[in-house]
Amino acid sequence: MSKKMRPESLMMSYGYKPELSEGAVKCPIFQTSTFVFKNAEDGKAFFEVAYGHRSAKEGEEMGLIYSRINNPDLEILENRLTLWDEAEQCAVFESGMSAITTVLLEFLKPGDLILTSSPVYGGTDHFIKKILPKFGIHVAEFRAGQDFESIKLIVEKSGHADKLALVYIETPANPTNDLIDIAASKAIADYFSKGKSERVYLAVDNTYMGPLWQHPLKHGADLVLYSATKYIGGHSDVIAGACLGSHELIGRVKVLRTFLGNMASPNTGWLLLRSLETLKARMDIQSANANKVAEFLNTHPSVERVYFLGNLSEKDGVQYEIKKRQCLSNGGMISFDVKGGEAEAFKVLNALKLIKLAVSLGSTESLAEHPATMTHVDVALSLRQELSITDKMIRLSVGVEHYEDIINDISQALDHISV
Ligand SMILES: *Cc1c(COP(=O)(O)O)cnc(C)c1O
Repeated sequence: MSKKMRPESLMMSYGYKPELSEGAVKCPIFQTSTFVFKNAEDGKAFFEVAYGHRSAKEGEEMGLIYSRINNPDLEILENRLTLWDEAEQCAVFESGMSAITTVLLEFLKPGDLILTSSPVYGGTDHFIKKILPKFGIHVAEFRAGQDFESIKLIVEKSGHADKLALVYIETPANPTNDLIDIAASKAIADYFSKGKSERVYLAVDNTYMGPLWQHPLKHGADLVLYSATKYIGGHSDVIAGACLGSHELIGRVKVLRTFLGNMASPNTGWLLLRSLETLKARMDIQSANANKVAEFLNTHPSVERVYFLGNLSEKDGVQYEIKKRQCLSNGGMISFDVKGGEAEAFKVLNALKLIKLAVSLGSTESLAEHPATMTHVDVALSLRQELSITDKMIRLSVGVEHYEDIINDISQALDHISV
């Protein structure tokens, strides 16, 4: 099938051959741990390629060996996921955290420096600051709004500039929707690559925008990471992760995945294949709904401030410029400050009926949570205040329900604090 068709048109069939599965229109779950070789010669050839003892010959497909190494559900899923980001290759994992930690372990070694944007996802933050230093890896951080020169200075001041190996960013930042400039991060990676035998790589956690609304590889990223638990899975029923990039880099990631054994299961692969069929349809509705919900919040008397990409305008300067360059939509995530503090925010959260009080994001159902005491409780109070993650903030993940029902639910909840 032609690759020129749009990804949403290919999500139902790309990479799957019904004739290999009794004509089944849908890819079955290949719930098997191991695969029968036609003959010993085939088995030998498959292992030669799988273990990198030789590269595949022209037109030679790597045969199925064992489900820790490859499985049809995962291979088809990986091929379909590459279409959205126009990546050469993809590796899927049993969680977003396993995709992220596998990348960190593959591209960092003792003595190296990692530069990260701040804040990043809590689990990622913990791994980078609490686990990586046990292996002698140094950490430097920068914030949204810092320019090339000030980030360069942070790296130089760390005392390990010559050991910078990986720049790791997350944009938009959760929960404030602050944007990090991917191209500027790439410029930092390139600047510190000079004179090094191996280039400094740039990895971007693109979970918050999902594979539709931002394509980091096009802006110079080497690796894109997803918690597929969020938009890609989209139904709050599966934990999974993905990493995309060039054949060379994903090849390295897949070798480490084989030995860590944190690949996704056939069942997870199958669930995600099913989710991908509606990814575009779901995300289109979520983004349209988010625009409507933000419009409502923007003028509500009990709402003090709304953090939404759609609210950026020329007067926001660099943030607006980055948004125009990087983001194809305003996304489906909105945070807002209610007038008051924790008590008022809790009153609103407890009064919601349609919208569920839960962490996670990107799913069909709308979810609300309180970052300061939930997802971001581990962030130091001073940093939280600096980032505007205060007690009055509520984070919303907008789902596919009718937007008027979502708005009516928020409206009746806000009535509980109206004066
Ligand atoms: C949820 C999330 C993760 C972690 O993914 P899991 O699938 O929960 O392991 C990483 N990054 C971001 C931005 C997330 O939202």
